[in-house]
Amino acid sequence: MKNAQCKKCLDKFFEKEIYTIQQFQYREEPPYKWSLQYFKKAGIGEWDSFCEKCLLEYSKESLESWKKSQI
Ligand SMILES: [Zn+2]
Repeated sequence: MKNAQCKKCLDKFFEKEIYTIQQFQYREEPPYKWSLQYFKKAGIGEWDSFCEKCLLEYSKESLESWKKSQI
């Protein structure tokens, strides 16, 4: 049963296809602490569920924002 919902696109997914921003702990940059702050401002917490596509978008957005903040 597809009973997990992506908070961004609101589509339904299988539990195993759902991701959280905790994935970003494994990025080299930005630091996870920075990512948490960044998403907190957008109203997103560590336990919110997203599909792979939406998480990838957030990944790109946050990295771009991090780069800009480093100039
Ligand atoms: Zn989604």
